[in-house]
Amino acid sequence: MRINLSKKKIKDPFVVKVQELSGQNLLACYQCGKCSAGCPAVSQMDILPNQIIRYAQLGFKEELLESKSIWICASCMTCNSRCPKGINIAEVIEALRQILLRKREDHLKVEKLSEAEKSDVPPIAMVSSMRKFTS
Ligand code: SF4
Ligand code: SF4
Repeated sequence: MRINLSKKKIKDPFVVKVQELSGQNLLACYQCGKCSAGCPAVSQMDILPNQIIRYAQLGFKEELLESKSIWICASCMTCNSRCPKGINIAEVIEALRQILLRKREDHLKVEKLSEAEKSDVPPIAMVSSMRKFTS
């Protein structure tokens, strides 16, 4: 992948928005990888937690917003507790979800679930999924 870096890119409105919503300083990350090493969901992710931070630093908006990792993240906060720089990676991932959900781009379309699927899922799981995946 060819990366074009510039001052403009790292002050991109998308980068600023992610920092504002998450309250995190993305540039504090030095890519040690401890967040990804401890993440229990990493085997299902297409972009690893440390890569999410790197992409966010660089303003890779499309790659991040199209990634399945931001929905796979279980918000377990293990990454937060492991980061030597005190970055709350889970909040950065939540910010990315929020950017999509605030555009009313629901990740879970409840109306598309079949009756069988709805009756299979415990109600508490359905409610928590709707909180995370719908606007
Ligand atoms: S643990 Fe912290 S510093 Fe290390 S890669 Fe992850 S976000 Fe960056
Ligand atoms: S909060 Fe998300 S990214 Fe962080 S360790 Fe848990 S599942 Fe992985």
